[in-house]
Formats: sequence, C-alpha cells, structure tokens
Amino acid sequence: MIPLTDGRPLIAKRSPDEIAAIRAACQIVSLVHSALARHIAPGVSTATLDELAEETILAHSATPAFKGYHGFPASICASINAEAVHGFPRPAPLQEGDVLCVDVGVKLDGWFGDGAFTLAVGSLAPDVDRLLRATERALDAGVRAAVPGGRLSDISHAVETVAIEAGVAVIQEYGGHGIGRELHEEPHIPNHGAPGRGPRLQAGQVIAIEPIFSLGSPEVVVDDDGWTTRTKDGSAAAHFEHTVAITAEGPQMLTQPRTAAIGTD
Ligand code: MG
Repeated sequence: MIPLTDGRPLIAKRSPDEIAAIRAACQIVSLVHSALARHIAPGVSTATLDELAEETILAHSATPAFKGYHGFPASICASINAEAVHGFPRPAPLQEGDVLCVDVGVKLDGWFGDGAFTLAVGSLAPDVDRLLRATERALDAGVRAAVPGGRLSDISHAVETVAIEAGVAVIQEYGGHGIGRELHEEPHIPNHGAPGRGPRLQAGQVIAIEPIFSLGSPEVVVDDDGWTTRTKDGSAAAHFEHTVAITAEGPQMLTQPRTAAIGTD
C-alpha cells in the first residue's frame, strides 16, 4: 500500500496470482460456512460451532483470522438475535427461533478472507425472513456495483437502497473494507450514502462488502465486553458478507462456494 501525499493510502491492487491466493483463503471461509450451516440447530451451542470452525480452518493449514485480533477471543463471531456483530461464542444452546449471524475470517499463506451469513434457528418468523432476504439482497446489490469505473459510494448506495425498499434499518456504525494482506485495509465502505462519491473502483481491488441491517432501530450499543454490538431497541439484526474481487470481467465473490475448487468438507 502506497501512501498518497495527503496521507490517505491507495486501495491496494492485486495481481491475478494474488487474487487467486486471496480466493484460496476465501474458499476456506466458504467451507466453514457450509460446515456450520449443517450444524446450526436448536440445542447446539455457538461454542461448539466455534470449535468446529477452528478445526476446519486448521485442517486446511490456515489460521483463524479473528482469534486474538485486538484481543477477540474466538475463531468466529456468533451474534444472536439483537446482537448485530462481534458476539462471542458461548456454551448456552441455541433456541428455536433464534437468529444467528456468523462471521468467519481466515488467513492462509499471508492472505485474508472474510465472510458472514445469517440463519434462523429452526422456524423462521415472517419479519425475520424479510430481514434476512433484504440483507442478502443488499449484499448482491452491493456486489453488482463493484465494477471498474464505478465509485466506492455506488456500493454504499446500492446496499442502502435495498434496506429502504424493504423497510429495514441500516446499522451505520459498521461497513465493508479493503482486505488482502490485512483483515481490514482501506477503504472503509459505508452501507449508506449518495452514489458517485469516493475513490474510483479499479480492476484488482479486493473488498469485503457487508450489509448489517436491523428490523427496528438502527442504533446499537456495545456491551461491557467491548465487542458484542446489539440493537438498542432489542430488535433482530442480520449480517451477510462476501469478499469480492473487482475485475474487468465484473465482480467475483471469492467467498462464494466453488464445489470443485477444494475439498467439500
Ligand atoms: Mg468484514
């Protein structure tokens, strides 16, 4: 990363080989997602899911990127119901009807991948279904805006537009980010705002896009643990994230499953 004269770093550009290396880390994120999704059920604890995630990451000769990151204690963030992001895995079993956001980061050969998804545990209430669909649709919209020649805030605007249409709130304190040699690189990518602003997007840039929405208030509070972030009004939150490479052929979701890319379990 080369600093500009005004001190702002450029958004790093990666070679095809470097993008392939980031994709390899991201494919482990995807494998962990699949493994966790198969195990999420009432009665299963997020501590158990964390162990499964860590075993899966280590089995692929990679490192859990979150564990120890600024003191974060686990390999996954597991945020339940009103918890929006950065929840700690815990021994208490998941309950029927819980909404679970899982965020996974992997480091492989010096490159990072990052991805998140949200699932209802057991039955899915209609309003939670609306929240989950909107958040996932917003991620898709953000990804489609990640094209060479576009501007960074085109992604932000695409994400926010879906939230407005769906009648859900954008939790504005958090957003996407550059990723590659570090888990979090420049730029920060807000999930709201007018289009046509910010740096111009270029082929070779790799970013994590991650809408975080709530069914009620957009306001959040952080617990005394310094991490767990929950909606102020207690309403459910959802979080979806892909690591995305901007290429001349269009955006590539590096954390998207590629069944033939590496092992299936
Ligand atoms: Mg992220």
